[in-house]
Amino acid sequence: MTDLLTGPRTVAQERRLVTEVPGPRSRELAARRAAAVTSAVGSVLPVYVERAAGGVVVDVDGNSFLDLGSGIAVTSVGHAAPEVVAAVQAQVAAFTHTCFMVGPYEGYVAVAEELDRLTPGDHEKRTALFNSGAEAVENAVKVARVATGRSAVVVFDHAYHGRTNLTMALTAKNKPYKHGFGPFAGEVYRVPMSYPYRDEPGMTGEQAAARAISLIETQIGAENVAAVLIEPVQGEGGFVVPAPGFLPALTEWCRRSGAVFIADEVQTGFCRTGAWFAAEHEQVVPDLVATAKGIAGGLPLAGLTGRAELMDAVHTGGLGGTYGGNPVACAAALATIRTMRDQDLNGAARAIEATMLPRLRALQERTGVVGDVRGRGAMLAVELVRPGTNEPDAALTNAVSRACHAEGVITLTAGTFGNVLRFLPPLVIGQDLLTEALDVLDAAFDAHAAAR
Ligand SMILES: *Cc1c(COP(=O)(O)O)cnc(C)c1O
Repeated sequence: MTDLLTGPRTVAQERRLVTEVPGPRSRELAARRAAAVTSAVGSVLPVYVERAAGGVVVDVDGNSFLDLGSGIAVTSVGHAAPEVVAAVQAQVAAFTHTCFMVGPYEGYVAVAEELDRLTPGDHEKRTALFNSGAEAVENAVKVARVATGRSAVVVFDHAYHGRTNLTMALTAKNKPYKHGFGPFAGEVYRVPMSYPYRDEPGMTGEQAAARAISLIETQIGAENVAAVLIEPVQGEGGFVVPAPGFLPALTEWCRRSGAVFIADEVQTGFCRTGAWFAAEHEQVVPDLVATAKGIAGGLPLAGLTGRAELMDAVHTGGLGGTYGGNPVACAAALATIRTMRDQDLNGAARAIEATMLPRLRALQERTGVVGDVRGRGAMLAVELVRPGTNEPDAALTNAVSRACHAEGVITLTAGTFGNVLRFLPPLVIGQDLLTEALDVLDAAFDAHAAAR
């Protein structure tokens, strides 16, 4: 067992429950929360966090949880990664904010250089930094509209792009993201995604792309399309991996039609899928790439990177924001990227896939309630259905997830139908912890799936 040093304390890399879950201190905080925090914001876990390191989260009652969620694909580099902690501490002591639009600084430039280098394609690129994934996606649309002089944006079924007004319009699922919050931004058009588990059996990526393109051409008109926006592997929509050929066919159509191909790599980026960016798995080169989540080891930062002629088509002053590219977040990002390189976290993500996929497939064989096992790298999921059908079973999904929480493993759900268990472990989680977490998952299925 290794201990990771976090300031004056160590966090043992172990699962250990010392009280019931939630314990008394968490219950006390839950009561304070109910009186102070709006009920409109929910939480997955019933416990309150005191510290975290590596692959372990410790709650205020001293319970240690194995993390298969990474705060939604954010702490890919591990909780309290030592290099990130040190970089943040040094930057906080130097200066915390000047606003890049007032007093620029090197960290912002260095993060842009890294993004220009790391994102797919060896063309000339430029970057702008923001605070959140939604903001990066929203700015991608702004850039595409200015650069093309067109307004229509094409998005897909099951897509998730954020919770701001424009990104709500881009997001597919009504509840909880959009319900009652309209009217939404205009000129957003939704077409079918390639969803191999739910498409007609045998439908190829090219056929799924042709289905989408036919709708685009007949209902929008190619000459009106500013951008096609897609997650190369869908996140909140249920880790839907499109059939091979789907993404290349869409990029090819964009090239022919003068539309901007935007990859939303907010969840898939930064080693999550075993590559720096998920578009690489099919040699797809997006015109614009939106990044956030895993980029800065837990500090809020987002990026928009793309072809120089697109990014520079916007008038000076057209993009920005008070906190975008905050120096502390930039220092964290530089340390995160360095750590990812030094520790080969792409390799680590592929190793996680090699460990998890056979276990998840065995679960599928054994239980009869797993309709599909899918994902890439350390972004894996199981879709739960009623035995012998493909009818979504959201109740079982929630029951299994909650059973994992009660046994000290953090799991997340997803999917348009709420029936996907998704796994996003920190890439530094050790084999032993991963195996132990999978044992807990097995037991949770045994306890809850038998009755189905
Ligand atoms: C999380 C997410 C967003 C939104 O990011 P925020 O930082 O929450 O605004 C956008 N796109 C994808 C694919 C995401 O997973």
